[in-house]
Amino acid sequence: MSSQLQPARGTRDLIGEEFRRHHAVAEAARRISALYGFEEWATPIFEDTRVFARGLGDTSDVVSKEMYSFTDRGGESLTLRPEMTAGVCRALVSNGLTQSNLPRKVFYAGPMFRYERPQKGRYRQFHQIGIEVLGAAEPLADAEVIACGWHIQQELGIAEGTLLEINTLGDAPSRDAYRAALIAYFTAHRDALSHDSRLRLEKNPLRILDSKDETDRAIVAGAPLIGDHLTAEAAAFYGAVKQHLTRFGVPFRENPRIVRGLDYYSHTAFEFVTDRLGAQGTVMAGGRYNGLVEEMGGPPTPSVGWAAGIERLAMLLAESPAAPRPVAVIPVGDEAEGPALDLLQALRAAGVVAEIAYRGNLKRRMERANRINARAAVILGETEIAAGVAQLRDLDAGTQESVALADIPARLQ
Ligand code: ATP
Ligand code: MG
Repeated sequence: MSSQLQPARGTRDLIGEEFRRHHAVAEAARRISALYGFEEWATPIFEDTRVFARGLGDTSDVVSKEMYSFTDRGGESLTLRPEMTAGVCRALVSNGLTQSNLPRKVFYAGPMFRYERPQKGRYRQFHQIGIEVLGAAEPLADAEVIACGWHIQQELGIAEGTLLEINTLGDAPSRDAYRAALIAYFTAHRDALSHDSRLRLEKNPLRILDSKDETDRAIVAGAPLIGDHLTAEAAAFYGAVKQHLTRFGVPFRENPRIVRGLDYYSHTAFEFVTDRLGAQGTVMAGGRYNGLVEEMGGPPTPSVGWAAGIERLAMLLAESPAAPRPVAVIPVGDEAEGPALDLLQALRAAGVVAEIAYRGNLKRRMERANRINARAAVILGETEIAAGVAQLRDLDAGTQESVALADIPARLQ
């Protein structure tokens, strides 16, 4: 081949340390979310495009410009999932789960796909962990979801370096009042807004608050605040979320500028941010979405959840998880191979990571043991086997002793 094939732009291979970091994040999230009663679901990686693009109402970047959509050989429009919430809601409805056992508490982990400009912490195939509570209208659900996310970050040892920012988007009447106030304000500044934000002004003025454009941001700084337009109910809901968070011991800061990237949110919106990843500082983000299950054809099902980028969390880990250190089983002479294989499997059955080189003399096999960073070598020669023992060598201490074959697995556990 003339030129070597590379991974597609914005995608990465996860090998060695990178894989272990990634795996550690997903496993910690799996473990902690299980403690909170979340059950893991896996939904398809591609879905009918309509699962993500519902009508013309969605003005988010994800839906309007980042989706990997294609027509398959049967003429169906399919999309590689850019996020998981829509798929989980679709699955709730498709599987007839909208009436029984609510609330459902779902955990997921897996790859997502967005056509974005690749940079540090931003990829075209990336991975998310996330949780959703489906069918709970109570503010305690919002607080528990956030507390679980914080607990996962504590488990990963990164909670000190992130900050929880929360906001409320209010209920429908609050949003309508706020929307009107925003339209009045931004219309007065229309000519100074970026092209994108002028379009947002028509479709969804709230999204201007999320603009990354410098001049937009200056205008946004003077924009009206949702807090001044909340109904009494919406204000009470937000107050209860904050009270529960305090009870759970989760520190937070209120940030009235937080809106979510997708359009179906109401009430609670939050982000865990860090200053350690440059522009890609949001590690975990979520909120309440009360209309999404209905949009999938289900009954009203108030829900709340978050998603977090595994790559960004993995970058924050202070230490790389160590690779397991195996025990090297080393037969010397042809007669020793059979008993060595028996011992190899006895070690594995006892939960000890064990390896055998497929060939080579004692010297070669010892070299291999060092290369794979083995912690111990078990050397079986013909005289040892006749005596029912093996030489157990501690490769860190350099010590060696003769141990009965039957005792070796327990010794190495
Ligand atoms: P951003 O503002 O960084 O584009 P977003 O609002 O598009 O984020 P969400 O849709 O809320 O992100 O996704 C939740 C989390 O998933 C983000 O906080 C981030 O950690 C991660 N994430 C989103 N897009 C990417 C990507 N392209 N590459 C890596 N991680 C991503
Ligand atoms: Mg984005």
